[in-house]
Amino acid sequence: MVLHWFRRDLRVADNTALSEAARRAEVVVPVFILEDALRTGPDVGAARLAFLLRSVRDLRDDLGRRGYPLIIRAGKSELELPKLAAELGAEAVFCNQRYEPYSQARDARVFNALNTAGIGFEVFKDAVVWEEREILTQAGNPYTVFTPYSKAWKARPVPPPYATLPPTTRKYPVVASAPLPLDPAELGHPLTQTVPATGSAGAGKLLDDFLAGPVFAYAEGRDFPAQRGTSRLSPHFRCGTIGIRTVLARLELARKQAGTDPGRRKGCEIFLTELIWREFYQQVLSNFPHVMKGCFRPEYDALGWSENRAHFEAWCAGQTGYPIVDAAMRCLNATGEMHNRLRMITAMFLTKDLLISWQWGERYFMQKLVDGDLGANNGGWQWSAGTGTDAAPYFRIFNPVSQGQKFDPVGDFVRQWVPELAGVDSGVIHEPWTAGIFGGGARYPRPIVDHGEQRLKCLAMFKAVRGVGG
Ligand SMILES: Cc1cc2nc3c(=O)[nH]c(=O)nc-3n(C[C@H](O)[C@H](O)[C@H](O)COP(=O)(O)OP(=O)(O)OC[C@H]3O[C@@H](n4cnc5c(N)ncnc54)[C@H](O)[C@@H]3O)c2cc1C
Repeated sequence: MVLHWFRRDLRVADNTALSEAARRAEVVVPVFILEDALRTGPDVGAARLAFLLRSVRDLRDDLGRRGYPLIIRAGKSELELPKLAAELGAEAVFCNQRYEPYSQARDARVFNALNTAGIGFEVFKDAVVWEEREILTQAGNPYTVFTPYSKAWKARPVPPPYATLPPTTRKYPVVASAPLPLDPAELGHPLTQTVPATGSAGAGKLLDDFLAGPVFAYAEGRDFPAQRGTSRLSPHFRCGTIGIRTVLARLELARKQAGTDPGRRKGCEIFLTELIWREFYQQVLSNFPHVMKGCFRPEYDALGWSENRAHFEAWCAGQTGYPIVDAAMRCLNATGEMHNRLRMITAMFLTKDLLISWQWGERYFMQKLVDGDLGANNGGWQWSAGTGTDAAPYFRIFNPVSQGQKFDPVGDFVRQWVPELAGVDSGVIHEPWTAGIFGGGARYPRPIVDHGEQRLKCLAMFKAVRGVGG
């Protein structure tokens, strides 16, 4: 008998450890542990927790239809797993690899506890196609620049999806199972945001819809927040409600469907490149875990960031007076989602207009994002701040007005999230102050900083740590 310990792999299809358990053991018992860290972890966000809990419910239903009861236990994995394995007489626990340093520390404790009890523990690669030591430069070092990494990634054959867990008619021993809370408030995190459709069914529908059309226009469509031009699969990748190999196999079919049409092929190619960004940042986190605590380039730890809390709070609340920034932050606060273009705009605004550390923004995003993921979030923040591996150079500073004009040209996205500006003309919606629209009856704030002035201050701040001529 093998216990399959579900973590961020909440699906029955294309699941490495689960299919391996089904292949090697006569009896597979699925288990999920409601870890204490779900209550107390510093970065737990209510939307993400709700997404996780509901996806566990969906998984329990999927498993139930196949004849497998999902056992839920609450507490510390290193105590609960050996206890459950002993109750059932299981020989081993299987699970899929997690890459966050704190998860790996927990897994080491689980290994020790199981080992002491004479129970096996096997961990499999699942969430990524290639792990941190599998794609290296010719000199045997990890890549720190994306383009050559991506080229090396694309040069390798992609493995096919793993077999889906087969149904069973076996009678399972009845053991205690804890109730599954569906409201994150029960774990101390009241939900104030909406939550997208969960589970493998939610992921499958998003993938079907995306591959039926938007993928072919992705090269352009992915940059416009008011359009539905991206897959929205990120919370599903994070919880593992869909397997990466499944997505890649389906993308290959779409690529064939695109035929020789260069625009449609380009859409498929760029989508693949985005999926590789996810693995790139994952390997950065694994190979350079210091990024969790500071800049990838340590000289930037000396940057003299502002600690202006009023500015930070205005940014969090979507009250900066820059409409595209405010619309993006209000969307995040209400839905837990934010389009990639807007993540770059808001992150650059915090770091390069308000001159506030990327670490404050990284933490806020982790509290709010439904897809919050340590590797991708840290990578995105350090890229935007100019402190990371393959960062935008520090002197590349987005202008929030021209970004708005370019990527929300008629202002539909701003109108959706900033009702104070709903009646404002498209021509001035991204700089309403030019038409005298702010404060008073209009209720919309004046810009809290002047972009031109802050840009110069930002350049000076970076130059101060880079030295003369830097
Ligand atoms: C400041 C900042 C913070 C970010 N924080 C996160 C985060 O916490 N979690 C997260 O999953 N992504 C994060 N991203 C990356 C990106 O914004 C999201 O992955 C994307 O917006 C999710 O929408 P989608 O699923 O529709 O993406 P699509 O455009 O459909 O892309 C498909 C998938 O590729 C991956 N992907 C795409 N772009 C990136 C990228 N730049 N880096 C890493 N993976 C990528 C995601 O898994 C995504 O689901 C961040 C980016 C920035 C600039």
